[in-house]
Amino acid sequence: MRLKVTKIDSFFKKKDTGDDATVDPGQNESDEWLVAQLDQEEDEEEEEEEEEEIPRQPSPKIRRVDHEGTSVLEVERDPGIRCQIWEYPPDKQDQVVKAYMKHGPYQFVQDVYPPSGSKKHPRRFQAHWFKAFPWLEYSPTKDAAFCFPCFLFHKKPVRRVGSTAFTIKGFKNWKKVNDGTSCAFLTHMGSDGSAHRYSVQCYDNLKNQPCHIEHAVEKQTDEDIRKNRLRLGTSIDAVRWLAFQACPFRGHDESAHSKNQGNFLEMVNLLASYDENVKAVVLGNAPGNAKYTSATIQQEILDLMAFNVQKAIRNEIGDAKFCLIVDESRDESKKEQMALVVRFVDKDGFVREHFLDLIHVNDTYSATLKHELCSVLSFHNLDVKNIRGQGYDGASNMRGEWNSLQAKFLEDCPYAYYVHCFVHQLQLALVGASKEVPEVYNFFEHLATVVNTVLSSSKRNDDLHANQVAEMEHLIELNELETGSGANQIRTLKRPGDTRWSSHYDSVCSLLKLYKPTYLVLKDIATTRGSGTSPSARAKAPGAVKSMMSFDFVFIMHVMRELMGITDLLCKKLQQKSQNIVNAMDDVATTKKLIQNLRDHGWSSLVSDVKTFCNKHGIEIPDMNAYYADYIRSRAKDQLTVEHHYRHDIFTVAVDQQIHELNCRFSEQATELLILCTSLDPKDSFKLLNIDDVCLLASKFYPGDFSEQEINNLRKQLQHYQLVPTNSNFKDLSTVADLCRRLVETGKSEEYYLIDRLIRLVLTLPVSTATTERAFSAMKLVKTRLRNKMGDDFLRDCLVIYIEKEIAIKFTTNRLIDDFYDIKTRRVRLK
Ligand SMILES: [Zn+2]
Repeated sequence: MRLKVTKIDSFFKKKDTGDDATVDPGQNESDEWLVAQLDQEEDEEEEEEEEEEIPRQPSPKIRRVDHEGTSVLEVERDPGIRCQIWEYPPDKQDQVVKAYMKHGPYQFVQDVYPPSGSKKHPRRFQAHWFKAFPWLEYSPTKDAAFCFPCFLFHKKPVRRVGSTAFTIKGFKNWKKVNDGTSCAFLTHMGSDGSAHRYSVQCYDNLKNQPCHIEHAVEKQTDEDIRKNRLRLGTSIDAVRWLAFQACPFRGHDESAHSKNQGNFLEMVNLLASYDENVKAVVLGNAPGNAKYTSATIQQEILDLMAFNVQKAIRNEIGDAKFCLIVDESRDESKKEQMALVVRFVDKDGFVREHFLDLIHVNDTYSATLKHELCSVLSFHNLDVKNIRGQGYDGASNMRGEWNSLQAKFLEDCPYAYYVHCFVHQLQLALVGASKEVPEVYNFFEHLATVVNTVLSSSKRNDDLHANQVAEMEHLIELNELETGSGANQIRTLKRPGDTRWSSHYDSVCSLLKLYKPTYLVLKDIATTRGSGTSPSARAKAPGAVKSMMSFDFVFIMHVMRELMGITDLLCKKLQQKSQNIVNAMDDVATTKKLIQNLRDHGWSSLVSDVKTFCNKHGIEIPDMNAYYADYIRSRAKDQLTVEHHYRHDIFTVAVDQQIHELNCRFSEQATELLILCTSLDPKDSFKLLNIDDVCLLASKFYPGDFSEQEINNLRKQLQHYQLVPTNSNFKDLSTVADLCRRLVETGKSEEYYLIDRLIRLVLTLPVSTATTERAFSAMKLVKTRLRNKMGDDFLRDCLVIYIEKEIAIKFTTNRLIDDFYDIKTRRVRLK
């Protein structure tokens, strides 16, 4: 049995008009979500306000796993775009209300809300209103206020009865707030018997509900409750153990007679075998209506644990600025997934990186990616305007999309600096960039074939060594090989892999060095029959020979050696742990210059190298002045020479791709930002501290976080702070992260609150990424183990729990049982 997963979008598709809901045909009848047509009546008291209607979301963000008629719901949280409760099918409404109550009111906190009303005296929503009015919600998409209990418990409005300002339409007439007794919020609350008070009453009742449905269940004794809790607790412990160990849950045959009922049931069996009390209440001894072992229950428990973890992470972020770190991976079903990690500095001054969510996308257009990321941030009540950094996986085949995605985020939030963080993957990103040129892509394909064919048997490797010795002697004779120590040790061809960084460059270099022996080995494979060669290798060898003996191959091999030779050095330098940012940025700058230099002046020497190589190996050189027949780029035949093709279509384009990629990753802006950041470095008793640089960092890169007055105050704080190194508490600090923690520990973060603020912003940038790498490799592990066995939500929950085990482990079984009881109307009492 497998989890059947269905995207809610397919149920909830609305026409473009946005107000008409249709059910996707071809769905099961039980799945049909009939959505009532929206009554778009204008509320009389609001008529004076003119505002552009923001169209409601065509598909509410509801993540839903449908299994055996039951489901776990996730709901759109933004009150401006969520669906009304009565728009859900009647039998789902109770569940939807519970799902909303699980999250609580959507109190979207922003430093400054957008202005509205008159241009002269604009007014804004105020975050402190949330404190005075706990029921209040704010929608960032509509810039309007809503009432949470009224939303949950109001009935579908009939024409002209009651106001829908706080439930459907949204209230935004800010000048009516705080206006004495006529404050609109107070008016909404009303006196005893008002609609709002009734809603709040319903809300409170449901919240403290233990006996809410008592009339519906049989009388249950304390002993029954104890048994129920033990039974559910056993299931929770089994789910948790499996999730922590990244084990699949289900078996192929879960019937009682099955030899292997799947990990979950086998685990419950194991637990029962060690404890008579457990044995007495689970599986065969459980009542038919509450076994707590169904797939749905497993999913609900998992969902609850993941929800608790995500909520804990969200609370830890608080109102800190944060950085998005996104990795992409494609699963077995070829769907794209993005893993979202948030990086921030917590209140104690620790840099945190947490795995927050897994996002499934149907296509990889940057607009789609941004939309999905934004809606997930909104779901977690995180403000896009608080993003202070972005980082993306460099090796991904979505490199191009990432580049335009980061630009799109910068439009919304100019301080969301894109700082390259996956230094170890820079080489792969650069190789990826060069593969945008089709000829280069083909070259790497052929290179892989050549290397793999040669390495396909150990016997071939022996041949290679024998040939190589001869070759080297030959080369030494010709005085072509430097004979320094270690230079002529025996080399083996390196297989270009996608995992080992810089392996591409090494492969190119090895093949250049071992070109002749490789050719001989391939020739041998192609012609020898009998032991040591497989038919498939024999079949591949002639093709491999043909590719490697072509001028195209040799030419691109030389281009790549030149190009990657330059960038390889940069990659190696950036990888060094002790690398300081100023030096690293210098290296980036010189690398860019060297590549530009290669582009401007490198052509003739490259061509002469290639020609020498070809002559030596008997490879035919095309006439560079002849016309080039280009079947792909349709140009007039007589306009294009062979030289033009190799120089402009391959060499220049390949070089430009590298420059472009480096510019994207290390823009001048990001470079300056990183260099200024070093002025806060406490190493060697704050040797690098430079007050002007620190002030420039704040005023130029974080003007949204520091007013002009604050910059002046920052300067004053820095003058005092300069003397801090003499304080023994601040000696021997080696990183900015240490400094941040020490400031909090010593209480100095309050005294130097502006310095503290700036340090936190700097630390939010993803320069070091140890945790993230761990999260992403954990993701690969979980996906490999569980692949094909789960739906989207199951995978997300497993990942959150597995990666954030340290948080997940804090939630006790008892607490989870209580949460489980609160989340949905249960037939069986648990408290
Ligand atoms: Zn209300």
